[in-house]
Amino acid sequence: MSDCLFCRIVSGEIPAKVVHRDDEIVAFRDIAPQAPVHVLIVPVRHVASVHKAQEADAGLLGRLLLAAKRIAEREGLGRGYRLVVNDGADAGQAVLHLHVHLLGGRPLGWPPG
Ligand code: AMP
Repeated sequence: MSDCLFCRIVSGEIPAKVVHRDDEIVAFRDIAPQAPVHVLIVPVRHVASVHKAQEADAGLLGRLLLAAKRIAEREGLGRGYRLVVNDGADAGQAVLHLHVHLLGGRPLGWPPG
């Protein structure tokens, strides 16, 4: 989708600090990091949100989490990390292309805001 920010990052049209890329998944550093490590893991194919995902996307959803785990290991987050998916307006989803936030490198408070 040409008007989707993360589709444009996936295609390379908009630069980003990419830390992982395969046929299905791209991960890049958040432009406004909320923790020492803040990576966004996104599907190459445009899926707007978890809420919009279909049964057929089940494998992709699982692989996004497994990619997050591998990136966390590579980033040295052995003490723990948080995976966040904001879905919809009340959750503050700003970019309508499904993304998993990987946050770590400091203690993370709970509950979130
Ligand atoms: P969300 O609020 O869950 O939709 O998160 C969107 C995230 O995208 C925010 O954490 C932003 O800082 C991040 N973001 C926005 N534009 C860019 C960009 N050009 N490159 C990397 N991250 C971005």
